Amino acid sequence: MIVVLEPDCSLKNKAGVVRFIESHGGRLLVSEIGNETQIGLIGNEAQALAEELEGMPGVAQIQAVAPPYPQVSRDHHPEPTEVRIGDVRIGGHEVVVMAGPCAVENEAQLESVGHAVAAAGARMLRGGAFKPRSSPYSFQGLGEEGLVLLAAVREQTGLPVVTEVVAPEDVDLVGRYADMLQIGARNMQNFRLLSEVGAQARPVLLKRGISSSIEELLLAAEYVVAAGNPQVVLCERGIRTFETTTRNTLDIGSVPVLKGRTHLPVIVDPSHAAGDRELVPHLARAAVAAGADGILVEVHNDPEVALSDGAQSLTLDGFSAMMDELRRVATSVDRHVAVPSASQTKA
Ligand code: PEP
Ligand code: MN
Repeated sequence: MIVVLEPDCSLKNKAGVVRFIESHGGRLLVSEIGNETQIGLIGNEAQALAEELEGMPGVAQIQAVAPPYPQVSRDHHPEPTEVRIGDVRIGGHEVVVMAGPCAVENEAQLESVGHAVAAAGARMLRGGAFKPRSSPYSFQGLGEEGLVLLAAVREQTGLPVVTEVVAPEDVDLVGRYADMLQIGARNMQNFRLLSEVGAQARPVLLKRGISSSIEELLLAAEYVVAAGNPQVVLCERGIRTFETTTRNTLDIGSVPVLKGRTHLPVIVDPSHAAGDRELVPHLARAAVAAGADGILVEVHNDPEVALSDGAQSLTLDGFSAMMDELRRVATSVDRHVAVPSASQTKA
């Protein structure tokens, strides 16, 4: 937001405007252009001051500044975008649950988890074939073999697959098997990768970086859309803070903030935020209550022996119990979580 002062604004009035902004915690930048003084206000609090500033002596006008992410902003696109993956629609009335293991480990594991989550009402299957691990000695994923398994379990369950792509040169390969490409937190600002997934046709699930602001997440989404792909879903997955009792701090406030700023759907990953399966259902319920369009959650048939993220993976029964809770919360906020069909329940 820019406050333009009158050309003959007195020093006293100028100082009054600056003092007013500073006393309300606003950050500002003063520029003298010819005989005109402009005061740029930085930060979210600017909007709240606009009305009072407009009436102050010496103020000529208040100009809104367009956000730096025009294509994902709600400004020119007030209607919410629905992202479609087969018959799944993200961003509409339904809260879409995507579930599966952190990493695809083997056929038996993926089949067991895939059938169980489908039977409990999941609408998409998740699972990493390319894993971005903090340590080079940790399990890095099965690569293409993992993609083949994901495609096979999609055939069996009917669930579309979302899986991560970690390198620009893998985008074609992953796109041949997956229905939706995930950009992980560690790659949110890998701009070459963002442009690459923007230049292909599969919908993109973009996770918030571990230390990224909401504006940076929106700018990352703008990269994808600017490259030609408007099918982007944002994912809040917790950010790094001083708090150590949870793996990350779930920024639940980001859900309404994002939904106010962008027309893109917003989902929440309670697993990587929590780091502990006991906490996951609590965070998932909060996410649905806060208006999330979906949940991305890790589930394992035997979490104790999982090759990655076992501690935060729900058991099959735990997932099913959480789904019942999510249905109740969704109803209370006029949303809907899928109820599995009878044939899926028998699977
Ligand atoms: C994941 O979804 O398994 C994952 C690696 O998540 P994030 O990128 O959010 O850490
Ligand atoms: Mn994981």
